[in-house]
Amino acid sequence: MAKSKQGKSLPNLYRKRRELLKKLHSIGPPVRGSIYQYSRFCGKKSCRRCQRGEGHSGLFLSVSIERKTHMVSLSTSSKEERAKEWSSNYKELQKIVEKITRINLELLSGK
Ligand SMILES: [Zn+2]
Repeated sequence: MAKSKQGKSLPNLYRKRRELLKKLHSIGPPVRGSIYQYSRFCGKKSCRRCQRGEGHSGLFLSVSIERKTHMVSLSTSSKEERAKEWSSNYKELQKIVEKITRINLELLSGK
């Protein structure tokens, strides 16, 4: 996209911001957190996975709220799918908020 001299005019900034706000509304539910993989050994002597040295692995979502870390096991593929989607929604939200912040900064520093 070519940048014109009009690129940063007030109407353009407001229009851009309106578009971003619309986008913001179209994003699905967010979750702020990180998805990690864990692997552990259950310690059962009869467990073949642990005997083979594979152990048990899975994913969990880690979210820190008010200095406390909450960890939720994503024990089904449905949970895994939802957590990944919500987490990517959050990242998308962040990007848009960042863009709106830059526009607002410009609007505030103008006349
Ligand atoms: Zn095991």
